[in-house]
Amino acid sequence: MSAAQSTIREQVFISPGRYVQGAHAIQRAGHHIARLGQSALIIADDFVWQMAGQVLAQSLEGSDIRFEYARFGGEASGHEIERLVALGEQALVVVGFGGGKTLDTAKGVADRLGTPCAILPTTASTDAPTSALSVIYTDEGVFESYRFYDRNPDLVLVDTQLIAQAPPRFLASGIADAMATWVEARAVIRSGASNMAGGLPTLLGQTIGEKCEQVLFEQGLLAWQANQAGVVTPAFEAVVEANTLLSGLGFESGGLAAAHAIHNGFTALHGEIHELTHGEKVAYGTLTQLVLDRTPQAELERYLALYVALGLPVTLEALGLAKVTDSELTRVAETALQQGESIHNLAYTLTPDDIVAALRAVDAHARAFIARQSRAAGA
Ligand SMILES: [Zn+2]
Repeated sequence: MSAAQSTIREQVFISPGRYVQGAHAIQRAGHHIARLGQSALIIADDFVWQMAGQVLAQSLEGSDIRFEYARFGGEASGHEIERLVALGEQALVVVGFGGGKTLDTAKGVADRLGTPCAILPTTASTDAPTSALSVIYTDEGVFESYRFYDRNPDLVLVDTQLIAQAPPRFLASGIADAMATWVEARAVIRSGASNMAGGLPTLLGQTIGEKCEQVLFEQGLLAWQANQAGVVTPAFEAVVEANTLLSGLGFESGGLAAAHAIHNGFTALHGEIHELTHGEKVAYGTLTQLVLDRTPQAELERYLALYVALGLPVTLEALGLAKVTDSELTRVAETALQQGESIHNLAYTLTPDDIVAALRAVDAHARAFIARQSRAAGA
């Protein structure tokens, strides 16, 4: 790299080619996928395929798209991607249909095959759909690395009617993942670090992160209640968009910091915590970053209030870590501080002990907040 190149500081914003959202949108999947290729490899798990495969298949047939169904094995690992690549050599487009790990796997398969990629999420539980990266795990489910691609998915198609049928816990998890977006992006903007696209955040990247958080504070709980009733409302549409599009663009072109690094640290533990969703672990990571960021009490409790209302885990006990030792928390901290982790995007440096203290402090703050809430309710 020449001296001139190394001093250039670019602002970079990236996004998928097309984003489509609406109730029953899956019925139009063929119309949108036909622009990408007439022969598709569909990656989905059995549950998703039995629930909605028929509707997708009809839509593809209606647009004269040949397709093959490849069953997703359950983990977004390097092995799983290679297994599916071998099945998709004839495909002109790879379609990921399902939850975050299915979608991350489909992106990896499309990248290896050099084909366009269509992403059809069946939950709004993570911001994985829109980004040009996958989170890769070992076959045992431990965080391994981020895999970056040359391009974002060509199509992201979100059927809100399908998502309203998914358990509300998934929407709450997506809200938690999306609540991390602005907390992390503003830390990146403050420190002058790079976003996930390797540049400085643009004003658009910043604006999307701010809007994402605003929508979730205003409509997050309403959307979760609509989900409990299994219905699509304007608040539900807004929150699905915040969880998927705003959070996806916001984290990728804004940047990650401590919340996701601490999530990755939690994956190094054994036991009950593996039963939690990505967003549930991110929720605790976000609160931990807020503590490290010296967030004032009233502001911290604004986040706690929303998380508690949504049933998200805000105590160590709720994480399945009631008896966690300091040495286990140190393992979380050391994993979060690994070289290349997004925690190094913070404007300040941390030791493992700083993180262990913040992890314990979140638990103390949350328990005090919940106790005060229940006293007020009883009064
Ligand atoms: Zn996330």
